[in-house]
Amino acid sequence: MGLRKATRDAARSWCYRPPPLADETLSSWLIRVAQGMRLRPITFLNAVWGTGRSLVNQDLDNFAPELVVTRIVTATDISEDALRMMTLAEYEGRLFERFPPKGRKTWILPVRVVSNDRRRHGLQYCPACLRDDPVPYLRRTWRLAFATGCTCHGIALHDACPACGATVQPYRARAIELCYRCARPLADASHTPASAQALRLQRRCETALKRGWDELGEVPLYSHLSFMIIRQVAALLVNGPRAGALRQATSRAWSGDPAPFAKPTARQPIEYLGIEERARLFDLVGRLLDGFPFKLVHACLEARIGRFHATKDMDFPPSMWVATVRLYLDLEPYKASEAEVAAAAAWLRRTKGSARYRDLKALCGESRTAIYRHMDYERSQARPSWRAGV
Ligand SMILES: [Zn+2]
Ligand SMILES: [Zn+2]
Repeated sequence: MGLRKATRDAARSWCYRPPPLADETLSSWLIRVAQGMRLRPITFLNAVWGTGRSLVNQDLDNFAPELVVTRIVTATDISEDALRMMTLAEYEGRLFERFPPKGRKTWILPVRVVSNDRRRHGLQYCPACLRDDPVPYLRRTWRLAFATGCTCHGIALHDACPACGATVQPYRARAIELCYRCARPLADASHTPASAQALRLQRRCETALKRGWDELGEVPLYSHLSFMIIRQVAALLVNGPRAGALRQATSRAWSGDPAPFAKPTARQPIEYLGIEERARLFDLVGRLLDGFPFKLVHACLEARIGRFHATKDMDFPPSMWVATVRLYLDLEPYKASEAEVAAAAAWLRRTKGSARYRDLKALCGESRTAIYRHMDYERSQARPSWRAGV
């Protein structure tokens, strides 16, 4: 197809315009359009948008540029809203508060495109879905970090070719369901049962994503806030000096694998963990979030995770999280106020005759300055020793 003719044709309706399938990604749909026209996906994209745009070099499922959206709307019966529904940006307000068009995104698995090559295993698939689909296609959910199993088939997702280990690159493959490198069917990958805990958590996340709200400890809250809390619990299990103790405490009380997570850098975001590691992580997260907040609180206290640790790295922690950790994870000793120390001193004088330092400390904890002001000094020592030189 000549480029000029292809561009002319693209302005008109495309001859093949299949409706998007349930939860289908934009790239999956574009590949099916190309295949329906008997074109290689790369040839089709270059013919419609020009080689200069090199759309294959972009993660279109993440964010579809305006020129892509308007051209498809012109050439098909698909509305702009339906098109946005095929991208991860559409999760704005439900999975995250704001979707940054550039840079790292929470919950979205990175694919890292370098010259048409997808270097990271950020596109997952269920071999049973690909085998059973009348028309094999790729789901949006398969790009999300909490998705480690298939909630339809109950088996673990895969992120590589079962034969050669290549990343999934459907643009370059002969068909969506084949490995681009060795052409082996991805559906041949093993059907391994997924962790029941991780699947339960994943079902809950998928429901929250659809309806925009979730429940934590029977308290309803916007889903993007719940996702912040779930991600923070996951991060506490992976990163930081107390992550190991938290995994051990979780495993001791409710089982699960407490082994350290394989990660190349100390503070790697959870989206960069491999699929087996993420499956193990969300199995632990599922155990901790069960009966929120009590199992989580127990494990945090065992691991000496206080409220400052529990909210660190969160720019704007949800108020529900702040209230929970303030209530249950405040490891700071109680500091009695000036009035409380004075009242305690008066009570000691009434009951014991004098307000001694040791008695006041037992009652008022670490409020030392106030204790020194209200305690009764022995005659031999007019001032406490630390003030002797003042
Ligand atoms: Zn499946
Ligand atoms: Zn392969």
